[in-house]
Amino acid sequence: MNDRVPESVLNATLAMEQISRAWDDDIVQRLEDYIRIPAKSPLFDADWAQNGYLDTVVRHAASWIEAQQVEGLTLEIIRLEGRTPVLFFEVPASTGAVAADPDKTAAKPTVLMYGHLDKQPEFTGWRSDLGPWTPKYEDGKLYGRGGADDGYAVYASIAAIQALKRQQVAHPRIVGLIETCEESGSYDLLPYIDALRPRLGEVALVVCLDSGAGNYDQLWLTSSLRGMASGVLKVEILTEGVHSGDASGLVRLRRRHRVCAAHHRRPGAGLAQPHLGTDPERDRRRRFP
Ligand SMILES: [Zn+2]
Repeated sequence: MNDRVPESVLNATLAMEQISRAWDDDIVQRLEDYIRIPAKSPLFDADWAQNGYLDTVVRHAASWIEAQQVEGLTLEIIRLEGRTPVLFFEVPASTGAVAADPDKTAAKPTVLMYGHLDKQPEFTGWRSDLGPWTPKYEDGKLYGRGGADDGYAVYASIAAIQALKRQQVAHPRIVGLIETCEESGSYDLLPYIDALRPRLGEVALVVCLDSGAGNYDQLWLTSSLRGMASGVLKVEILTEGVHSGDASGLVRLRRRHRVCAAHHRRPGAGLAQPHLGTDPERDRRRRFP
């Protein structure tokens, strides 16, 4: 997989030059605009719908994509009722210099490019001259919340597709799915995948632009992602003391009393936690008259 793409297929040096120029002249500024908007994930902004920041960043990204005039690209902002919005784009397969025949390419596999535009919250610990919503470009690095995770994804996807188009390189059908619920566990993503399933096509490769790489010398694969299991843990304990010959289980009050009593019996032990200083005998009489 580390083989260079043959020059006859893609002039990688030229593509790198063009993409780097696009970033320096345009995309970095778009990311600075993006950083200024506190588009926090719904988990960190209960009023996300009223605040409208997620909608704003999706609309900004959509208008930038439209301005790139990528050959054949169509896009749509999709909003399922009560869910965070997604940006969906499609680029038909191309045979390169020869115009693609949609009938011949329809059955070919699709490449899915994934990213997200919602952000983590502010958090603390920023250097005094930096902050989450105040972008600063310094020594080749852009500081601020969300630029790398994951605002860059939509711009990188389109810049890569545009590089292929400029050199008339053949490519399969490409779709892009940019969500705004990732930092909340992507609970809105599956309903969108269900709704978009007919339009996604036969996805054979997912390029998830939300990971890291050890260097820029070769393609890195992420073979596993962290997962999340969520649920509600309900713990029930005995509410009444019962004889150990009849039943067993944790009994909240009596256990605490035993701990307190043991503590008090130790020579020289003070009452470490006065609020625990109850009288076990008195309580027992009250509960079991
Ligand atoms: Zn991310």
